Amino acid sequence: MADSSFSSFDVVVIGAGPVGLACAIEVQRRGLTACVVDKGALVNSLIGYPTNMEFFSTPELLEIGGYPMTTLHYKPLREDALDYYRRVAFAEQLTLRLYERVTGLEGEVGRYEVVTEKGRLGARYVIVATGFYDVPNYLNVPGEELPHVTHYYKEPYAHADQDVVVVGAKNSSAKAALQLLRAGARPILVVRGAQISDSVKYWIRPDLLNRIKEARIGALFNTTVERITPTTVEVRTPEGLRSLPAQHVYALTGYHPDFRFLTVLGISCQGDAAQTPTHDADTLETNRPGLYLAGTVCGGLNTSRWFIENGRYHAQVIAARLAGEATPALPAVQQPIAY
Ligand SMILES: Cc1cc2nc3c(=O)[nH]c(=O)nc-3n(C[C@H](O)[C@H](O)[C@H](O)COP(=O)(O)OP(=O)(O)OC[C@H]3O[C@@H](n4cnc5c(N)ncnc54)[C@H](O)[C@@H]3O)c2cc1C
Repeated sequence: MADSSFSSFDVVVIGAGPVGLACAIEVQRRGLTACVVDKGALVNSLIGYPTNMEFFSTPELLEIGGYPMTTLHYKPLREDALDYYRRVAFAEQLTLRLYERVTGLEGEVGRYEVVTEKGRLGARYVIVATGFYDVPNYLNVPGEELPHVTHYYKEPYAHADQDVVVVGAKNSSAKAALQLLRAGARPILVVRGAQISDSVKYWIRPDLLNRIKEARIGALFNTTVERITPTTVEVRTPEGLRSLPAQHVYALTGYHPDFRFLTVLGISCQGDAAQTPTHDADTLETNRPGLYLAGTVCGGLNTSRWFIENGRYHAQVIAARLAGEATPALPAVQQPIAY
């Protein structure tokens, strides 16, 4: 059926995260038209991050389009970044279609049709910058679907005088446990491995280890969750089964790209352990000609391979290629960070 709202662009970018926005800016600067479509808000993933979260990167490493990011702090807060990316998107007068999920892709290079839940968009080329933050790594245990179990942590204030189990041992879990303690909760960390991850930032790890040593934060290592009930978390420790009281459970065990969506787009998987979506490492073009990947999604399960600091360069590579310019080399891989 004909869609009366049909618009056509040189490039449609799927995902209005930092990298998707950078792609649209670089493409527009080369004289091509672009539209950014997101199933949620502008920089939807960052909106989901914890309130007042401090980025690990200093501001200049998160900048896109050459706009300076300012902050009163040494490292920007989530709110600084939200404000920044919105200002940049508006300054560049990007064409945005927000709260419009992409559900499919028809056609071929030069005449693609991006199918959304609200209609269709024409595109000569399509860039997929859908990140990794929409699909949690589930524990897959009974009770995980209970309403007091969440995979996204926002802030600690609702948990004063409450027992809270935090599953995971990386930065997100470490920061959540520390904040929960300081907001009057009784946090217990459940850690599958033998220790708090080495990838926890050097300024967070000693704080957490000292609180565990003081027994103000409980920690069970080599321990897995067996089952969650409305009032407890049943865990298997090296000493046997234990029942932990819990009015709330944060399962902060990471996230991964939406592989089903990538399959719907016709992007295959390289077949490696990280399930890397097939793409040329130099051009970022996928197995479907004219369909490109950018940002965190490029790493598959290796979600710390590409982040804002290095993923933003994907925009220049793809835009240069689409404009027929020499493709710049990507910067060397930086120190991976885990969240
Ligand atoms: C707590 C935390 C702290 C972090 N700190 C840092 C840091 O200090 N420095 C750093 O460099 N990186 C950091 N990162 C990583 C960084 O935020 C991500 O790597 C970054 O957001 C990736 O940008 P992106 O544009 O690739 O994807 P995202 O920002 O995830 O954007 C993807 C967008 O795609 C949209 N989308 C998904 N599916 C669809 C669909 N079907 N249709 C339409 N839209 C869709 C989503 O709604 C989302 O808005 C941090 C991550 C976390 C979780």
